[in-house]
Amino acid sequence: MERHRFTERSASSHTPEERAEVRKHHHTHSLRRRFEVLETLGRGTYGKVKRAVERRCGKTVAIKSIRKERLRDDLDRAHIQREIEITASLVHPNIIRLYEVFESRERIVMVMEYASGGELYDYIQDKQRLSEEEARHFFRQITSAVQYCHKNGVVHRDLKLENILLDKDFNVKLADFGLSNRYMRGQCLDTFCGSPLYASPEIVNGLPYHGPEVDCWSLGVLLYALVYGSMPFDGTSYSILKEQIRHGRYKIPDILSEARSLIGWMLTVKTEDRATVEDIASHWWLN
Ligand code: ADP
Ligand code: MG
Repeated sequence: MERHRFTERSASSHTPEERAEVRKHHHTHSLRRRFEVLETLGRGTYGKVKRAVERRCGKTVAIKSIRKERLRDDLDRAHIQREIEITASLVHPNIIRLYEVFESRERIVMVMEYASGGELYDYIQDKQRLSEEEARHFFRQITSAVQYCHKNGVVHRDLKLENILLDKDFNVKLADFGLSNRYMRGQCLDTFCGSPLYASPEIVNGLPYHGPEVDCWSLGVLLYALVYGSMPFDGTSYSILKEQIRHGRYKIPDILSEARSLIGWMLTVKTEDRATVEDIASHWWLN
């Protein structure tokens, strides 16, 4: 399986945004005084994520530092703004918490909950394939996080193994709301978002979409990866991949899995027939 970064084509956000309920500092000089910044955990699109320890209480956090010079245009700035505002508004056991934001002329720094178990991507790479039990454990928590987002009018739009982190007890911590947005009944979004491997037919066809249905497709790709240890759509070029996705054509490995019908329901081309997050959460396979 290959790692993918996002691509976004056109900006269209006319939804109102909520104010963050998170402490905001208008300088960064107290940052180093309060936190001992340690090793790099991951490389983001606009900067690094590092582990840090709060000197006062010894608590470990993750610090995402964005260099403003790396933000090329309003679209980049909108992503960061939305990431901060949306992450700040979400409080759920399976979603990374945002604690504080520091901003100076050069940088924006997000102080977040630390997920010590790393990415689900690496976990699966190491294990090759998970047992049905383990796949269910992870997928139930991922679904719970996404259900909470959709209930609160938020679509993640970049659900993939690299953005699903694990804590020390192997609980799911959904991260990276950099491509997320708010959606509203009767309004459409039309931005091409996320990794092509997880993109839904309406996304690859460039059609407007309501919002939650694109996450539900990605959930189907995720569950497939969890139970089969490979990707459902894996075309070697974008045009082949796009054809596979448009027709919802994926191969089913010889491995027997009871999740097969649920995967098929999520990977349904017609959005009206695709499983919603409520359908997924109440499906017998999960429960
Ligand atoms: P980007 O939006 O650029 O993809 P992410 O927020 O996904 O940035 O962070 C990039 C990587 O850094 C993640 O895939 C993960 O490996 C690591 N990372 C991010 N946040 C945390 C965290 N809270 N705890 C541990 N590792 C993290
Ligand atoms: Mg990411």
